[in-house]
Amino acid sequence: MSFSSLGLSAPLLKAIEEQSYTKPYPIQEEAIPAILKGHDMLGIAKTGSGKTAGFVLPILERFQRKKTTNDRNVKALILVPTRELAVQVNEVFQTFGAHLPRRVKSLAVYGGVSINPQMMALQGAEVVVATPGRLLDLVSSNALHLWEVEVLVLDEADKMLELGFAEEMNQIFEMLPKNRQSILFSATLGDAIQGIRENLLRNPIKIEI
Ligand code: AMP
Repeated sequence: MSFSSLGLSAPLLKAIEEQSYTKPYPIQEEAIPAILKGHDMLGIAKTGSGKTAGFVLPILERFQRKKTTNDRNVKALILVPTRELAVQVNEVFQTFGAHLPRRVKSLAVYGGVSINPQMMALQGAEVVVATPGRLLDLVSSNALHLWEVEVLVLDEADKMLELGFAEEMNQIFEMLPKNRQSILFSATLGDAIQGIRENLLRNPIKIEI
């Protein structure tokens, strides 16, 4: 199996080659075509499995064909438990997006730092990688809107729950349009994750690595 057989176009294949990824990891073989088709997904996978490229690549593949907008309506929302992961996932978006004919603007937003620069930078950001608390603060300040979210990714959902973000996550889910794609990644599948799965995912493809 090669990356080119997964439905990714030349600008992404070039960036993948620059990263010296020779072939897709198993999770990528399954996740990339499924996400490209618009399926909901449940991925039981740990850090190190290659899950990040597994959702970043198909999102970029689809978004490169969209028109650039300069509003504050986020189109892809990636929720993560920590600032470090937010920065890291956003870097993966930027690395793989490097050769796209149209820049897909992505931004990491997280707490513990001043909110103002994030508020300003959000203009025109289509992809937002966020920790839950800071995202809600930004929504209350009208710095971004969630009513046009087409793709939701919960990355390390079990860790988000462990860190006590359940309430914030539910508030965020309530604001999202019903008609969207949802992707849930978790290292474990406990009762709370099952609850989120039932609430959020529609006929998901399940991938266990
Ligand atoms: P992740 O599980 O997404 O945190 O990725 C773990 C590590 O694997 C990261 O350093 C990635 O750059 C690397 N990686 C992901 N996919 C591939 C691949 N297909 N080939 C080689 N390295 C990869």
